[in-house]
Amino acid sequence: MVKLSIEVNLNQKFTPGIKATEKYRAELRDFHKKEPLFKEERESPGWFGGDFHIHSHHSDGDHSVYELMTYLHGKGLDFFVLTDHNTTLGWKEKYFSKTLVIPGIEISTFFGHFVLINWIGDINWFSLERKSTFEDIAVEIKRKGALLSVAHPECISDPICTGCRWNYPNFCWGIADIMEVWAGSWSERRAENIKTLKRWENLLNQGLKVIAVSGSDIHQLEPYKKDYGRTYVWAKSKTREGIMEGLKKGKVYITCGPKINFQLMTDKDVFVSLGEELEVDCNTSIELLINIENKKNKKKLHIELIKNGLVYNSYDSFLEHIELDWSDKVTKNCWYYLRLLDEKKCIVGLTNPIFIICH
Ligand SMILES: [Zn+2]
Ligand SMILES: [Zn+2]
Repeated sequence: MVKLSIEVNLNQKFTPGIKATEKYRAELRDFHKKEPLFKEERESPGWFGGDFHIHSHHSDGDHSVYELMTYLHGKGLDFFVLTDHNTTLGWKEKYFSKTLVIPGIEISTFFGHFVLINWIGDINWFSLERKSTFEDIAVEIKRKGALLSVAHPECISDPICTGCRWNYPNFCWGIADIMEVWAGSWSERRAENIKTLKRWENLLNQGLKVIAVSGSDIHQLEPYKKDYGRTYVWAKSKTREGIMEGLKKGKVYITCGPKINFQLMTDKDVFVSLGEELEVDCNTSIELLINIENKKNKKKLHIELIKNGLVYNSYDSFLEHIELDWSDKVTKNCWYYLRLLDEKKCIVGLTNPIFIICH
């Protein structure tokens, strides 16, 4: 006779791989019989925090989309973009949503990885490889209402991660809508992310409006690190359409703690905010209004105001609420963004720019 012994651990949380997937599939079947616990969408406007780079078991991640939705909801994320390598099959798994999922794909080529946000279906990147140009597919990306994000552009490449660094021949940066300036954990990928930040600033100095986002690029659930950037988007509603609209406008900042409000004001009381453009007469005086809430860290925060890629002003503070009112006289076209650093000089927050056009 053969004795079979089965051990059941009811306290078990997430375990990578098939077992966890089966567990959550069973839970999922039960959910179909119940009302949803959470409503994924919300009609009122606000800042919504998300992650723009997540893998599931539909490519090389360990977990189902359902597990990711449950886990990332628990981490306080309002939304995430599902970016499996070269497939959007995971979108079909989105039977029931605890958190807002935006469909996407990460196209992995030998010359770099790019993410399409708000994208479902295939893309013929083999022909792209042969032509070495993006022009052919850029039209289709725009037509479908998707945005193109260059993923981890300064990631380590051969022999550790073949094709992971962005080195696409003849790539016209005007095609890129977004750049992942905060890849993974800032402290662990600091050298890479600082290089990316410089690359982004160079594009801004060339007059290109490329929006900065973060992506954890997680393949496993634990640990979801404290210094993964969370990208906040100002949206009219917590819906796929709302997030995409806010994202396109660049009403976006990235943080792993501090909440940031950054606006410009003219002497005629005109206000502009992140992603916006202000047209003024040359030699106009402007005020730069900075409001930061730093309740979580309670440690010294170094605040840098960057103008055209250079530090224009800086300030150190231990306060939970920081209010700064700086001024400048505009003499030519310029852009400003804010960068927050902790005591170890790691970036803990950065905004997208505000642009000034000077006549
Ligand atoms: Zn990648
Ligand atoms: Zn990835």
